[in-house]
Amino acid sequence: MTIYRSPFHDTKLPSTNAYTFTTSNPNNAPDSQVLLIDALTKKRITYGEWKRDTRRFATGLVNNGFKRGDVVAVFSFNQYDYSIVVFAPILLGGIVTTVNSAYTVPELIHQLEDSGATFIVTHPELLATAVEAAKKVGIPPQRIYLFGEEAVNGFKPYSSIFPPLSTPESQLAQPVNLDGEPAATTTAVICYSSGTTGKSKGVELTHLNLCSNAAQVSPTDSDMTPLQTVHLAVLPLYHIYGIQMCMNVAIFNASTTVVLPKFNPVDFLQAIQEFKVQTMNLVPPQILMLVKAPIVDKYDLSSVRRITSGAAPCPPELSVALVQKFPHIYFRQGYGMSELSPVSHAGLYTSPVHGSIGVVAPNCEVRLVDPETGMDAAPGQSGEIWVRGPNVMKGYRNNPKATAETIDKDGFLHTGDIATVDRHGHFFIVDRMKELIKYKGFQVAPAELEAVLVANPEIGDAAVIGVENKAEATEVPLAFVVRAPGSTITEQQVSDYVASKVANHKKLRGGVRFVEIIPKSAAGKILRKDLRALVAQEKAT
Ligand code: ATP
Ligand code: MG
Repeated sequence: MTIYRSPFHDTKLPSTNAYTFTTSNPNNAPDSQVLLIDALTKKRITYGEWKRDTRRFATGLVNNGFKRGDVVAVFSFNQYDYSIVVFAPILLGGIVTTVNSAYTVPELIHQLEDSGATFIVTHPELLATAVEAAKKVGIPPQRIYLFGEEAVNGFKPYSSIFPPLSTPESQLAQPVNLDGEPAATTTAVICYSSGTTGKSKGVELTHLNLCSNAAQVSPTDSDMTPLQTVHLAVLPLYHIYGIQMCMNVAIFNASTTVVLPKFNPVDFLQAIQEFKVQTMNLVPPQILMLVKAPIVDKYDLSSVRRITSGAAPCPPELSVALVQKFPHIYFRQGYGMSELSPVSHAGLYTSPVHGSIGVVAPNCEVRLVDPETGMDAAPGQSGEIWVRGPNVMKGYRNNPKATAETIDKDGFLHTGDIATVDRHGHFFIVDRMKELIKYKGFQVAPAELEAVLVANPEIGDAAVIGVENKAEATEVPLAFVVRAPGSTITEQQVSDYVASKVANHKKLRGGVRFVEIIPKSAAGKILRKDLRALVAQEKAT
């Protein structure tokens, strides 16, 4: 059996309360350091205020009946104080479940029920949805709190339950001691996977999972110093990528984090320019925008030093175009999933391998397994990534069957992602097992065709799905294409272009469709199910 390991030594794992770890302050930041800035209102929170207010909210929760193990649901788009609400239940040995802010009432009901939430913190814009869902699951109105400073329809800001500012520190809630084994068994977060391949699953992550992954990522970051930077939090904070990179790791390093409530190109570019942002965790659609959108040229992005892309494939042509356009930017990809807290692989900024998700993170063991035979993939061949390590989730909430199907008896988590590895240990994602198109027994990866398509300057964006070809009893690739501004490229020209770049079996035999926009989730994933639904709907009519 071949096990791939990190080029880095294993790091010491901090088995403690995640709040204690996150505030351990290895960079000796003073309490006066600005920790959080709201990009739009410019409001700020210092490091000292963050620690104090997190403990004040925790105290308020306890005063309102919150007990160890209870669950707080956070249902909001990004807020600069989101991390205060997240870390208060965590420090109490409770659980936080972060909810996709685009959820409808039935989706929210499902997550509230599945996670067992008994408190909700939401945003005034989402209050009506929260109230309706809370009613259905029996969460009383007095346990629904708001972000912001204003009461709305009798619902009060979460800060309304803080004890007075004059309360001595010794009377504020303390982080419960979870040192050692309890950190490995106590759930801190139930985050929900993106629902790309089916219904979103409740992923239980322990204190040890969260602390470990922050510690595991640090060595891959540290080929560039300092770790303390101005960081932009534009990823959704409800998603594990945002929870870990924009909150846990950023607070641990005491980086100044500029928080954008929602992504839009103008606010994003403006925030980078205004706050001289140095470090950003992004997703491929945002990289695509930085490379292709004309509006980018109107802003000064010279402060940016590091960009990490994750959550979906970033084609090599795209990252090469990024660093050619912005030579001062160091770029790398990271790879992971909610079930891995989330990172198992990351590249190194100073020795980038474009198209690669990087090397194995410390303390992780990785196998590449041929899904057909269950044996190690032969050298140079692709296989499913299996991961074992301290960042592997405790399990799926209320779903021991799905947990057993995902984590095997040896502790390896089967990711469902197909990859290859080169002889220097750089991994390359081919695609998800579930997305691979089977053309007459040949495998075609949509991600590869999408990379070819977006490399064409006449094409603004693209997505590929497999559609049935009944006559030939096979699946064939169909491309959805957004023309670049001013382009008049035709379907035939797109087909011919792809045919000139790929092997015969990968040609766009399912055709080419022009669309205005490719549907994507806030976490950066192409919503192929929406494209499939479009095709199915057309067939039906
Ligand atoms: P669900 O499991 O609910 O269907 P999901 O897998 O999209 O949804 P997440 O946990 O948010 O939910 O995403 C993890 C997945 O994202 C990985 O399994 C992988 O397919 C993809 N991914 C993450 N990083 C990368 C990357 N750098 N390159 C390619 N794919 C990536
Ligand atoms: Mg998944």
